[in-house]
Amino acid sequence: MMDHIKNFINGKFTDPVSGKYLDVYEPATGEVYCRTPASGKNDVEEAYVAAQSAFPSWSQMPVDERADILDAIANGIEADFDTLAAAESRDTGKPVSLARSVDLPRAISNFHTFADMVRKFNGQKFESKEFGSNTINYEPLGVVGCISPWNLPLYLFSWKIAPALATGNCVIGKPSELTPFTAQELGRISKSAGLPDGVLNIIHGSGPEAGSAITTHPGIKAISFTGGTKTGAIISRAVAPHFKKLSLELGGKNPNIIFSDCDFERMLETTLRSSFSNQGEICLCGSRILVEEKIYEEFRDKFIARTNQLIVGDPMSKESDLGALISEAHLEKVKNYIQLAKDEGGSILAGGEIFLVNSRCKNGWFISPTIIEGLGPECRTNQEEIFGPVVTLIPFSSEEESVEIANATEYGLSASIWTDDLTKAERIANKIESGVVWINCWMVRDLRTPFGGMKNSGLGREGGEEAFRFFTEAKTVCIKAED
Ligand code: NAD
Repeated sequence: MMDHIKNFINGKFTDPVSGKYLDVYEPATGEVYCRTPASGKNDVEEAYVAAQSAFPSWSQMPVDERADILDAIANGIEADFDTLAAAESRDTGKPVSLARSVDLPRAISNFHTFADMVRKFNGQKFESKEFGSNTINYEPLGVVGCISPWNLPLYLFSWKIAPALATGNCVIGKPSELTPFTAQELGRISKSAGLPDGVLNIIHGSGPEAGSAITTHPGIKAISFTGGTKTGAIISRAVAPHFKKLSLELGGKNPNIIFSDCDFERMLETTLRSSFSNQGEICLCGSRILVEEKIYEEFRDKFIARTNQLIVGDPMSKESDLGALISEAHLEKVKNYIQLAKDEGGSILAGGEIFLVNSRCKNGWFISPTIIEGLGPECRTNQEEIFGPVVTLIPFSSEEESVEIANATEYGLSASIWTDDLTKAERIANKIESGVVWINCWMVRDLRTPFGGMKNSGLGREGGEEAFRFFTEAKTVCIKAED
């Protein structure tokens, strides 16, 4: 019989009130392998009641005890490392090697980092003769909603849940309906780690049903959302009348700016990763590669050669560099963008085709890594987020031009700059409109630093104390001494 994922409410695994389920596909085979609850308002209400009644004791628990439970959750993830990595690969189509090297280690770090940080997160105090003693306390909000996407399922789900729990909130989380498995496992692990019932509730289902039941619930105080920019706009409208706190981590169209004076081999190696890791389905992937004219041809030829060596294959195989795209609809979308690039006058230098993988993966959703050249910065291919293994090459002749092209989209999530001249790199970093700028590296993340996007890439910042401030209300208590 096919497995059914369950909701996790008040420490128990439960069926959705509707009794209805959605199919969950394995992208590598194109086949349904389990079913996930089609939850809605009633399930969210049950979760809310549980979370609300768990809130007083969870929020008043000494911080060290809460932090110890977060550490125990991290240890629980570590104990199930192999199973969770395989599950993440099956749900998303990503190579299991990537789940082992990126997704799982990061989910573990999310819990440990916020546990460490919250132990040291104190209120501030200002004292002066004029204004007396002012203490600022950061108080938990109550019940908060965390909604995450499919590309890095446990990694991003835990990135939101860990700081929310650390600061004493109770959570209603909703993973993507396309990748629900590891979220269910997180419920089980949290319970074994000693998290009290009702503190973390996990509701599965579609965005318009389960997701919007969370964003519009009048008692839920904040929404932390990661996903597409269009969904972000829908959620903004939904939460506005309720005056909820809102954090939005949205799409990107990130530039890689490559100068002739960079460490070429290191740049080439990293650019391959930043282009095609996770099949290009990472919001931080550099999808526009800007190359100084002097080395454009050398870069293009070597990049094509290295791209053609990448192995697209069964995500379960250790050999595979790229796995399958998340869904048939997404594969179709990526194919349409490749056609659009051709229609706009671009040349396909590598890939551009559906990739057939034999044996058990013959019906999977694979596409070969694709490089396009010959398109101006303003065309749709260079403006819209494709979110697949597709990059464009754009030559530039001066520092000023590189900045102009880099900033010429509605997005502003991240950028990479490659040069040995650090003064130039920092000068450019100051002019780039994005929340993160990497110099001679990519996707290096100290979790204590703010993370988020400018322009249509988001609102607010996650990470470090920014996350703690988002999940708390600052209260100033002022005692004025007698004059
Ligand atoms: P999506 O917006 O379709 O869905 C994200 C989540 O929101 C899912 O759980 C979905 O069920 C839910 N949702 C959808 N409609 C909703 C609604 N009306 N109300 C409430 N919830 C709703 O995004 P996706 O396709 O899952 O993810 C891909 C997108 O996520 C890309 O645009 C990518 O750039 C972005 N992303 C951004 C970051 C970041 O940190 N900035 C990280 C990862 C992914």
